[in-house]
Amino acid sequence: MNPDAVRTLAVLGAGTMGNGIAHVFARCGYRVILRDVEERFLNRALETISKNLDREVRKGKIAEGEKPSILSRIDAATKMEAISPADLVIEALPEQFELKREVLGEADRLLRPETILATNTSSISVTALAAATQRPDRFIGMHFMNPVPAMPLVEVIRALQTSNATFETTMKLCEKLEKKPVAVADSPGFVSNRVLMPLINEAAFCVMEGVAAPEAVDSVVKLGMNHPMGPLELADFIGLDVCLDIMEVLFEGFGDPKFRPCPLLRKMVAAGWLGKKSGRGFYIYAGK
Ligand code: NAD
Repeated sequence: MNPDAVRTLAVLGAGTMGNGIAHVFARCGYRVILRDVEERFLNRALETISKNLDREVRKGKIAEGEKPSILSRIDAATKMEAISPADLVIEALPEQFELKREVLGEADRLLRPETILATNTSSISVTALAAATQRPDRFIGMHFMNPVPAMPLVEVIRALQTSNATFETTMKLCEKLEKKPVAVADSPGFVSNRVLMPLINEAAFCVMEGVAAPEAVDSVVKLGMNHPMGPLELADFIGLDVCLDIMEVLFEGFGDPKFRPCPLLRKMVAAGWLGKKSGRGFYIYAGK
């Protein structure tokens, strides 16, 4: 499909990533159909988008008058049939293979043949997800970073079956969104998580072994390596359960002991200390 022919995006899942993806496409003039299973999730997503647009107005990134038209380009839907006019569909469903496989299969049957289906998965094989559809050549990974409106990178992941045309259209679409696409092959953790998660895991080992307290580990990385956030602060922000799941994918995918998850990370997840979202991770968050 010609990238200029893409005018309508459907997003499956209106959570953290789904609302960010909807925000960015609507801000760039696309019509967006945001689909989730319950009205309340859609309302929460629309509220988040509205708040994030207000922040962009305050920062001078968009004019105040643009906000209503951006919001008016987003239609929320609970019915799957609503996605059928889409030229591009991006799934941002929970990171569970069976769920993604089932919902992608259902979406696939409703879409026009030329529509591109994309996944925002952080760790599942894009090739395996492509195989769950009848359009594996028009299937691709678009791995946006959180928070989507602020982060320039999109890792564009080619499944084994992805056609050159689908790949080129996707790269051009990212540029139209003013994002920076980087092409990578389908491999466990792609590049982003294969590099980031071992850093977080090693930082957790430093804490577990008493080498340094979380604040000290983070200070070393922030002040010495010029990272805007320390690895443990970042782990709390991402969610320690998500970090552990990705380490498991790397460990299983490569069968290499260098990816073994830190036992402290496992223990904290078992305790329900999941980071910012649960009120406690490597740090304690007031108000939760
Ligand atoms: P999330 O849990 O915040 O959102 C998932 C949403 O999907 C929820 O609103 C849920 O109600 C909805 N959903 C569940 N079943 C559905 C269905 N059948 N149809 C439509 N919607 C359904 O998850 P998230 O953090 O936004 O992650 C989504 C995807 O993005 C995952 O694959 C994750 O690995 C990936 N990802 C996450 C991050 C991150 O930092 N959170 C970063 C990059 C990629």
